[in-house]
Amino acid sequence: MSIEMKSAPLVEKELESLRERCESLKSKGVTPSMKVLLVGENKASLIYTRNKKKFCEKFGADCEIINLSEEILESEFLAKVKEISERNDVHGCFVQLPLPKHLQHIDCGALISPEKDVDGFHVHNIGELFKGDPKSNGLMPCTPQGVVNLIEYYGNDLSGKNVVIIGRSLIVGKPLSLLLLNKNATVTVCHSRTKDLPEHTKRADIIVSAVGRPRFLTSDYLSKDKNQILVDVGINHDSEGKLCGDMDYENIKDKCAAITPVPGGVGPLTILSLAQNLLQAAENSL
Ligand code: NDP
Repeated sequence: MSIEMKSAPLVEKELESLRERCESLKSKGVTPSMKVLLVGENKASLIYTRNKKKFCEKFGADCEIINLSEEILESEFLAKVKEISERNDVHGCFVQLPLPKHLQHIDCGALISPEKDVDGFHVHNIGELFKGDPKSNGLMPCTPQGVVNLIEYYGNDLSGKNVVIIGRSLIVGKPLSLLLLNKNATVTVCHSRTKDLPEHTKRADIIVSAVGRPRFLTSDYLSKDKNQILVDVGINHDSEGKLCGDMDYENIKDKCAAITPVPGGVGPLTILSLAQNLLQAAENSL
């Protein structure tokens, strides 16, 4: 039997610590405050932003969702982000993606100052990640940080491990490769042009999949030794509309040492990392 690496116990444990840190900040006169700019009424974005607000309320931080019209002019949008993010009582701020078509060319990571960039997308924070100084107080990208936390929470030391990441996006694969390298893992990043993907995945100690294809990773990609740790970042819907990951969970769960389920695995950790970044930003502001 493999270990099912659910995120719930990690989230519960970290919530305790978030509550304590939030209390401590409040005793110093600082209530951590996050602003989420939501343009239009994209259904998934409405759910994501509400979940972020609910999570902040669980540990005592303020989170306000600022709804902006789908038709907002670019100049008005830029002015609004500037006005909100420059307020002294705001510690964290981000624009919920995706934006409507006429705003999609904007690099939202550059609009918010690095010390309030709780998404960890600003080039300054990416630079801090690149440098890998353990004493840095840069804000790290949320989903990749969640992946690292989950692997370590289940007692795995990343140092010296061969990790294969499938996917090289700016929000998951690339930043994750740097976080893992900073943890002294040996990292291989695969993508759609990688030749003979199974040849790479079969010799990995840990496989992280961030491809976005339902049940893409089958037993054909795994080592026969059943000793690999499998981390599924994918959030997909199959042809019947059922939520599933990138991994063929039911058919591979007994062919590995540990595996994350979808839902209940990596998914909730993005919000946890966002909350951790908010508190770090508020603490840095003192
Ligand atoms: P992208 O579409 O931006 O990136 C997908 C990556 O997969 C690309 O690098 C692509 O390669 C690679 N890829 C596609 N097909 C193949 C293939 N056949 N073999 C090898 N590599 C392949 O996706 P994201 O990184 O944004 O998201 C990936 C998944 O993670 C999605 O399901 C998404 O919903 C989920 N996700 C979950 C989050 C969470 O848990 N909170 C947060 C963010 C994403 P190439 O670069 O060559 O095109």
